[in-house]
Parts: sequence; C-alpha cells; structure tokens
Amino acid sequence: MLAMYGYRVVVCEAHEHPGGAAHGFERKVKGVGTFRFDSGPSLFSGMSAPSANPLRQVLDSVGEAPEWLPYDRWKMYLPGDKLFDVGSGDAAAFGRELARVSGDAAEADIFNRLCAANAPLGELIAAVPPIALRADVGAAQTLLPYFGKMDPLSGLSMVMSGISPSAPFSDVLKAGRVPESSLTGWFFDFLAFALQGLPASATQAAGVSFMMREFFAPGAVMDYPKGGSGALVDALLRAVEKRGGELRLRTRVEGLTVDNAGRCIGVGLKGGEHLDARVAVLCNVDVWNTASTLLPEEWRPKVKGSALDVVGDAQTPLDCGSASTASLDGLDLASLGVHHITAADLRAPIDARDNLVFISIPSALDNTAAPEGYACISGMLGEKVFSAASSW
Ligand SMILES: Cc1cc2nc3c(=O)[nH]c(=O)nc-3n(C[C@H](O)[C@H](O)[C@H](O)COP(=O)(O)OP(=O)(O)OC[C@H]3O[C@@H](n4cnc5c(N)ncnc54)[C@H](O)[C@@H]3O)c2cc1C
Repeated sequence: MLAMYGYRVVVCEAHEHPGGAAHGFERKVKGVGTFRFDSGPSLFSGMSAPSANPLRQVLDSVGEAPEWLPYDRWKMYLPGDKLFDVGSGDAAAFGRELARVSGDAAEADIFNRLCAANAPLGELIAAVPPIALRADVGAAQTLLPYFGKMDPLSGLSMVMSGISPSAPFSDVLKAGRVPESSLTGWFFDFLAFALQGLPASATQAAGVSFMMREFFAPGAVMDYPKGGSGALVDALLRAVEKRGGELRLRTRVEGLTVDNAGRCIGVGLKGGEHLDARVAVLCNVDVWNTASTLLPEEWRPKVKGSALDVVGDAQTPLDCGSASTASLDGLDLASLGVHHITAADLRAPIDARDNLVFISIPSALDNTAAPEGYACISGMLGEKVFSAASSW
C-alpha cells in the first residue's frame, strides 16, 4: 500500500522465500511431478467477495488477488469417534450440529445466547474495519472517524455486558452465559486457539468476534487460494514490484538505527550494509526479536505502553503446546475434504500438549497442488509443522 501511495519501498526479507509464515514451497519428484506445500496458513475467510477482512481490503486497494476456491465446511474428530461437521453460513444449522454431537438439545440455545452476546461487538466491528482496531493509547484517535457510523445502542449494550474489543473473548462467553463444560464453550475456546494460538481467556475479543460474525453470516464461505498461500504472497509482491518497489531476499536486518529524538532512521544489514530510510521503517519482525535484538539497547526500556510490552510482562508466550501425532495409513485422500482437526481431550486445556492436530489436504480442492493421482498434506502439531505427499 505504501508503494501505491507513491513511496519508494524496499522489503528486506531474511528468508530465501517471501511471505514469512505464509510462504509456499515446491518439491519435484522425478517421474511423478511437482507437489506444492503451504508452510503455514491454509484457513481463510472473507476473501472471495468484498468483506471486512483487512487482508481482502488490502488486496482490493492494490488491485491484486489470487484466484479463490470457496468451500463451506471442515471436519473435526472428537473423542468417542464423534464427527463434528463445522459448516459456515448457517448459524441455525451449526446450533443443531452442536446439539447433535453433544447429545444435549440445550447446546443450540447456548449457542444462540452467545450469538446474541456477540452481536453488539460484531456490529461495532462491522462499522470499524478490524485494521483500525488497536489496544494501545492511540486507539481513540484511530476510531474517531468511525464513531458516526456506529449504532449508539449497540455500543451501550456492549459496555453494559462488560465486553470490550481488546478484552479477552472469554468475556463474551461469560456475557452469553456459556457454561465452560458445554461443547459451545469448548468450540469457541478452540476457535480462539486456532486464530491466535491462545485460549479464549487470553485472546482479544475483536478477532474472534469478527470471525464469528463473518463465519455465520448467511451464505458465508471459507476460501482457499488456488496455488496455495504462496499465490497470495505473489499477489502482494506484484503490488509492490509493479510500482517500482523492491524485494531483497536473504537480507537479514541486524539492527534498527534510532536517532536522538527516537525516530527510526534506517536499518543495519547482515554483512555491514546500512540502508537509510527517508520516511519510515516498518518492522514486521516478531515483537520478541524486535525488542530484544533489533532495538538499540538504550531504547529497550522506553517501549512501555507499546505492543512491544508483551515481551516484558510475558503475557504472550512464544510457543504453544497443543500437539498430537497422526497416522495417514488407510485414508481415502481423494474423497476427504480440505480441512480436518482432531481433538484428543475436550476437558483438557485447549493448548494442552498433544491435544489438537490440524491437517489440510489442499489437493482436495486445488488441482495444482499435486500431480494427478496424488495428494499433498500439511499438518500442524503445536508449534511444529509437517508436510507430506501421498498417492491415493
Ligand atoms: C503453522 C501455521 C499455521 C497458520 N494457519 C493460519 C490459518 O490457517 N489462517 C490464518 O489466518 N493464519 C494462520 N496462521 C497465522 C498467519 O500465518 C500469521 O499470522 C501471518 O502469516 C503472520 O504474518 P506476519 O507478516 O505478521 O509475520 P511473519 O509471517 O512471521 O513474517 C515475518 C517475516 O520477517 C522475516 N524476518 C524475521 N526476522 C528478520 C530480520 N532480522 N531481517 C529480515 N527479515 C526478518 C521472517 O523471515 C518473515 O518472513 C498460521 C501460522 C502458522 C505458523
């Protein structure tokens, strides 16, 4: 977007592929063909049509996009051989599915109560793009232009029920009187974990509330980028390069240069080169490394009140433990859908080690992901990621 607004942009990327956690990679197998894997994200929503999703809004602004392949359900495998069919775009059907899987008709009502409790925050998010929501002292300034579009009654009912966008999503669960032991309570703890790697009690309400509103809107679908997450990265890269911006791969930033007034005026690169920044440096390195290695030592104590505080008070752990192992023997990979999630124990904390495993089979949806007759599989086991290829 900076390139679109006429700034000269240089992207310094330490890795050999662009895209960070979302980069894609390929493996060629002699005599078989090319398999394509996603290193990280595979679940996207609000991408195939204009929506409040900030990523969709960025792509719309820069006029680039991959082709999106929509689908409307994923499968969850719960203890006791229970198959939970999670469908988007139909809240009533989801309530019925919760009741069926749990064997408790009350689950549909619990879910309805949660939807009602979430609605005021959802309204707020509909009025304010998530891109403008922030939890620091600048929040009021960013929100100001949107106040006119907000429904004052929604805002009031949100405040009355004790919900705030930057407070944990567990406050919304409380406002909806969702019992912790219910399947509804478990599912939304899971959703918070799937979105941010933390339980609902440690995940900002704004993100989960946004996802909930988007996911259950009538007719809503999930989207997979044809060509994988790498195709999405390529679209963003085209937006930079077609406007004269430059990507430098294998270019590690070793330090941020800060002047006496506290302005970041450049970066020092591995190998000794220094790049001056005429306007600004945007640092997309994770907060832990930014605060502990890139920022000059004398500035480190001075970041109080900023997002970098998460390092100091250890509120944001660096890893998540929920993990498991999976055997793919005997599966009919051709007829399975794209996303599968297993849970070993619904009573254990959602981030308990060895509890969840996420598996995606992009080739079930995207015929460019693997040669004819083959499947590619990516999995996430806690902080570990695996990729595999198999014939049907
Ligand atoms: C396994 C996995 C599965 C996920 N699944 C989903 C999903 O299904 N849906 C979803 O929406 N999200 C998902 N996510 C989250 C999503 O991928 C991330 O939130 C998002 O990609 C983060 O993007 P980012 O640009 O903020 O950071 P990053 O992707 O971490 O980018 C940071 C970049 O900075 C580079 N870098 C670091 N240090 C330096 C340095 N010193 N000099 C130069 N470059 C440096 C890194 O190489 C990297 O490219 C998943 C994440 C993972 C890991």
